[in-house]
Amino acid sequence: MILAIDIGGTQYRLAAVDARGVIKRLVRGKTDAGAGASWMIEQIVGKGSRLCREWTFEACGIGFGGPVDFDEQRVISSTHVLGWDDLPLGEVIGDALGIPAVFDNDANLGALGELTFGAGRGCRHLVYYTISTGIGGGVILDGEIYRGANGQAGELGHVPILIDGPVCACGNRGCLEALCSGPSIARRAMEALRSGARSPRLRETLREEDEVSAKDVAEAAEMGDSLGRALMRETVDYLSLGVAAAVNAFAPDRVVVGGGVARAGRILLDPLRTAVASRVMPVHRDLVHISRATRGDRSVLLGASALARRSL
Ligand SMILES: [Zn+2]
Repeated sequence: MILAIDIGGTQYRLAAVDARGVIKRLVRGKTDAGAGASWMIEQIVGKGSRLCREWTFEACGIGFGGPVDFDEQRVISSTHVLGWDDLPLGEVIGDALGIPAVFDNDANLGALGELTFGAGRGCRHLVYYTISTGIGGGVILDGEIYRGANGQAGELGHVPILIDGPVCACGNRGCLEALCSGPSIARRAMEALRSGARSPRLRETLREEDEVSAKDVAEAAEMGDSLGRALMRETVDYLSLGVAAAVNAFAPDRVVVGGGVARAGRILLDPLRTAVASRVMPVHRDLVHISRATRGDRSVLLGASALARRSL
């Protein structure tokens, strides 16, 4: 049995995961950005200790929502909570629980989770996107997470798509994330509504909720709302530029798309397949296999368990 931990911006989760990727127990807690790392680690270790009394864990795998120096096994920084910088997170948690622990960035582990137990099963080369409040990416080549020269490879959400586009959280302009993350889709919708675009449905949502979300946009598109459809078309266009670049660069067996925005389902993925196929080099056209992640919000936990098992 492996203890898998997923530390994200709003919550953290711990799971007992068996060798087949079955989650036998799942516990969670809320991330408190103000409380700092030591308080959160105390909470996580407390919950982990209770699980350790119930199960015998061979190892612990941890997914962290921020940049990680994998070789040094240290957190580089975190925008979610203060006090994580330079923290040897695996060592701290592993020592406290008395089991070997290894950790990586959550998007890399999402990719590994889908490769091992989800939509990427049987693939050697996989490109993974997780589209929610940001856009995370992971690249798997020959069955291994590709880390690049500085360990930070696979940032597919920060591929520049639009010259002079909106400012991204990374500081650059026009990144895929700044155009197609959930909040970016919502922002484009609000801008269109402000400039007078016709959309009875989204205007009603705006009146009732005071804002519109990416989910509202996808639902409006599904109902035939013209602005909803235009925004989804634009989202597919931007996404297809990023995905086509990744397919041309890596020639993966499969592209897997997870995260909240992927829940839009066919209305996003069907046109995305067509658009990507039209944009990749002809020699790659047969490689355009784009699937929705099948392990949903559990892919990071499952990837963390796979990483821990590989480290044994
Ligand atoms: Zn960026």
